[in-house]
Amino acid sequence: MSRINPFYGQLPPAFFFTRLNDAVAAYVAAHPDQRLLRLGVGDVTGPLAPPVIEALRRAVSEQGKAATFHGYLPEVGLDCMRTAVAAYYARFGVNLSPEEIFVSSGAADDLGAVGNLFSSDARVLVVEPAYPAYVDTSRMAGREIVHLCGTQQNGFLPLPEAHPDADLVYLCSPNNPTGTAYTRSQLQQWVDWANERQAVIVFDAAYEAFIQDGDVPHSIYELPGAKDCAIEICSLSKTAGFTGMRLGYTVVPKALVRDGFSLRDMWTQDRTTRTNGVSYVLQRAGEAALSPAGLRYSRESIAVYQENGRILSEALRAAGLWFTGGRNAPYLWLPCLGGQSGWAFFEQLLGQAQIVVTPGEGFGEVGTGYVRLSCFGSRGDTEEAARRLLTVL
Ligand code: PLP
Repeated sequence: MSRINPFYGQLPPAFFFTRLNDAVAAYVAAHPDQRLLRLGVGDVTGPLAPPVIEALRRAVSEQGKAATFHGYLPEVGLDCMRTAVAAYYARFGVNLSPEEIFVSSGAADDLGAVGNLFSSDARVLVVEPAYPAYVDTSRMAGREIVHLCGTQQNGFLPLPEAHPDADLVYLCSPNNPTGTAYTRSQLQQWVDWANERQAVIVFDAAYEAFIQDGDVPHSIYELPGAKDCAIEICSLSKTAGFTGMRLGYTVVPKALVRDGFSLRDMWTQDRTTRTNGVSYVLQRAGEAALSPAGLRYSRESIAVYQENGRILSEALRAAGLWFTGGRNAPYLWLPCLGGQSGWAFFEQLLGQAQIVVTPGEGFGEVGTGYVRLSCFGSRGDTEEAARRLLTVL
């Protein structure tokens, strides 16, 4: 008899994006002459930077010659990539040793895998609405989940005050889907809360490269005490357009110790046991993406998405609507007109303005009654969407 993990049975059916894609496909089939404006995507659309392409070519050519060929690599990452990430953090005034940096295949992989460091009865606190991986991977592990809800009252930036204890908390700032971002003083409250309770924060910094406001930290380690309580997970997906490349990094500081265990040592053990690292070619590409020339190109692509955020924000303001985001993250989050569900408003925007948005239901129950707009569309589509939104809202 197989003893299958029963907790997979408690996951919601994976129908959300299927339903979304089916609804859009059905609309296109019924209205082949209409131009759809796709503000539903959470994926980059610009190409990779030329220094990245050059690094890829160089690395591929090295792999084709016996003298420069690389086989298995250190599971935790090449020194050159770990050093490049450390230099990137130095730009925020954060001093990390390369030994605290673990190269990964992207944030999604490590957001789930980090749960390996905690016992199955660890209580997980998730600030919602949220990127679904936090809840779903915790469910798969059979952990108790405590939900902390973002609301219009707390500006979708809930703070830890008056909150039940938890062992592990997932925070995402800047946030997908709400586009909100904790300021330094707000995030400090989380750090102090975690240190008081000996909890661990898993800080998802996937959208840090979009931050425009000076009082929003790029890394949780900008705050005093954070190295004692936080693991930070990030990737080059949104920083350098690497969604199709798959390269990220996880920071586990040496100072992070719980129950007498160094979490950095545990993570080293975990990675060297469960993975064989990331490909040589990709890590060389990542090093180039984090070089000054690579970052210059990425900033230009990000500026395009940031301008899209400004255009959409202006349209929503002109319509007199309450919303969050559009400034420090490539998403805007707004309540549905007339108190409709996210799905009903999605249908209305599709039918009346041919705009595709993402219903808030995809980010937890608390997302019901909201929709997310993405800034990753083309400039033309975004400008046209802003015009059409004003006719509907
Ligand atoms: N975290 C958040 C908040 C995201 O929105 C995403 C992807 O959209 C990820 C993590 C996953 O990123 P990656 O491509 O690095 O796996």
